[in-house]
Amino acid sequence: MRLTRTAWGKQQENCWICGGRATDTMPLHTHEMARGPARQAALKEPAAWFRVCLYDHDNLPDLASCLAYKRHFDRPHFAPAVVASLRGRQPDSVTLAEIDRAAEQIEFWDESNVLCFD
Ligand SMILES: [Zn+2]
Repeated sequence: MRLTRTAWGKQQENCWICGGRATDTMPLHTHEMARGPARQAALKEPAAWFRVCLYDHDNLPDLASCLAYKRHFDRPHFAPAVVASLRGRQPDSVTLAEIDRAAEQIEFWDESNVLCFD
């Protein structure tokens, strides 16, 4: 069966950026790494999905950084060429070197320092 956006979201229990766990008062949101007309297609494309709290949703980093988070937290669906195409760019417009550089600047959270919004 095809993975739905809702089922995928339930598997992602923490905000990728701050590590905050979803609560009733601070739900997590599935963001699409796409814009405008591509957003409809992105709703069906796991490569474009990004799990984030509402606060961080308003402060998303650049695309290379978002893809670094994607690789870290959702490796099976890491596909930068697909995301670039959805954004109307050349498939090779975001390189692995850019994503590696972005990843070096990120302190990924882990289970030992996870936050809770309650
Ligand atoms: Zn967050």
